[in-house]
Amino acid sequence: MTTDSFHDRVALITGAGSGIGRAMAVAFAKAGARVVVCDINGESAERTASGIGDTAIAAVADISDEASVAALTETAISAYGRIDVLCNNAGIIDNMALPADIPVEMWERVLRVNLTGTFLVTHAVLPHMLREGRGAIVNTASEAGIRGGAAGAAYTASKHGVVGLTRSVAWAYAKEGIRCNAILPGPTLTGIATAEGVRDFDPAGITRLGPVLALGEQMAQPEQMADAALFLASDAASFVNGAIVPVDGGWSAG
Ligand code: NAD
Repeated sequence: MTTDSFHDRVALITGAGSGIGRAMAVAFAKAGARVVVCDINGESAERTASGIGDTAIAAVADISDEASVAALTETAISAYGRIDVLCNNAGIIDNMALPADIPVEMWERVLRVNLTGTFLVTHAVLPHMLREGRGAIVNTASEAGIRGGAAGAAYTASKHGVVGLTRSVAWAYAKEGIRCNAILPGPTLTGIATAEGVRDFDPAGITRLGPVLALGEQMAQPEQMADAALFLASDAASFVNGAIVPVDGGWSAG
């Protein structure tokens, strides 16, 4: 990607205070984009945005909350006038519990953030992309979006949902100049495993999933995910739409 591939474009990235989202924000800024750094954690969003400089703004929003998402979209539009790229990246993991064991509240929270949150931001941003007649959406799904044994039941279902939503958006708006693709990261060195609410992993789930998880033990750097997102959002991928792209060093090929 050249340094000005995204010159004059605006990228909105959720979960950009940490991990993969932060690496995406930095990568899009380096490629010339103005970046809206969204996170539920205001301090970390500020840190990412100030690290980038005056081509980024921080926006605190909870993607699982419709009013918060409406305010986020408004912030982006009033700052930059449009949204060309949306990276739906914010997400949380479950406690690796199997379907019989997962607490219902955890199921609802993980589905609400990972799937409904991705939908809410997409739903709010699409009218702006449709108005411009162009847009690129990159969703961060997971290996757990295409296999049953890579995480607990809630995370697995939520990421399969993200894959389905990706295809739905890709199919619905192909003729309107809007593309939608997903990356499926393999295990990546980020803060996700130590994030709020997921410190107590379910021992039965871990035992059952352990051998599968171990297959993916080669850890990626967040920047390797950002590079894939940058390509999918770029004009170099102008005919790539509805693609579900593993970025896992070959894990899912086995
Ligand atoms: P991370 O915890 O480092 O970053 C996630 C960010 O999302 C955090 O800054 C967090 O504050 C933010 N966030 C959480 N809930 C939010 C909400 N409701 N609204 C707005 N922001 C919210 O984790 P990461 O690994 O960088 O995760 C990014 C994405 O990558 C997630 O969708 C995750 O499921 C996916 N993923 C990660 C891995 C991995 O191994 N790290 C593997 C596959 C997929």
